[in-house]
Amino acid sequence: MGKERNKMPMLQEDSYLKRNSKITENRAKRPFIMGEKEKCPFCKGKERQLEEIYLEVHLPEERERIRIVKNKYPFCEPIKGNYGFHDVVIDTLSHKKEPKDFSSAHWVLLLEVMQKRWYQLQKDAQVKFTQIFKNNGSGAGASIIHSHWQIAAFDTLPLKQKEQNIALMHYYEEEKQCYICEQLHDKVHELIIENSEWQAVAPAVSQYTHETWLILKTHKSQYGQLNLKELQGAGELLKKLLNAYNELLPKVPYNICFMSNAMNEEPYLHFYIQLIPRLVPMGGFEVATGCYINTVHPKTHATALRQLVETRR
Ligand SMILES: [Zn+2]
Ligand SMILES: [Zn+2]
Repeated sequence: MGKERNKMPMLQEDSYLKRNSKITENRAKRPFIMGEKEKCPFCKGKERQLEEIYLEVHLPEERERIRIVKNKYPFCEPIKGNYGFHDVVIDTLSHKKEPKDFSSAHWVLLLEVMQKRWYQLQKDAQVKFTQIFKNNGSGAGASIIHSHWQIAAFDTLPLKQKEQNIALMHYYEEEKQCYICEQLHDKVHELIIENSEWQAVAPAVSQYTHETWLILKTHKSQYGQLNLKELQGAGELLKKLLNAYNELLPKVPYNICFMSNAMNEEPYLHFYIQLIPRLVPMGGFEVATGCYINTVHPKTHATALRQLVETRR
């Protein structure tokens, strides 16, 4: 019994030393599939290997399908003590198709179906936090080469988000303004490209080399609040940025993270998307201090990526 309990995912938190982790021994069993299509559980015809399917949508004109399924090796489960859901979003039927090559219709369908799942999770009264993210390439944390995203929903906030929320709430109380709206207004970031809904920028404080943020121009705190035009706009810019990155940093693994944890509407939280190339593994200084050594100035990055986006027009 004791042994069985050890196998359940559990949250560990030290609020004094500011450390938190999810101990999940079951995840050590997950397969690493970087090439072999035959072994890939996300390819067509491997449906029996999947756990529960939550949502499924089709794009018949491109013979594409997107599925949101239960993660076979979850780091949280709907059980007491570490309540949550851990999903996998299999965003293409093709083993090697990359999001930079998705059509506009494919991007919109993907962003819409992930939003539908977000609504389902929001309805669960115990869910207080949702993180949508993509690991592309083993250097960015992916264990399967077939393109996919993950959605993790918890009953508690990670420490970083708890602290950020408190700081942003205090800023809002003092200034009567959302901090990120204020940053956009003051043009503190380096603009790369924009459309009517979003600004793609190199953030003023760029922790990662060649980091980009996609910031919603209108103040909205939740992914669930984005309308169709905003989803289309996000898909358009993500596709352009990923193609530009592919020329600037060919084959470099990357993460995409949706950065607003608000499950309810909050005036002090603002939705944005982080795009982070993983050029080098984290070093000892970063591990020890949480301060990142960035070898490319945000201005240099913005200029380089802007030129590549413009030459592709
Ligand atoms: Zn596959
Ligand atoms: Zn705002």
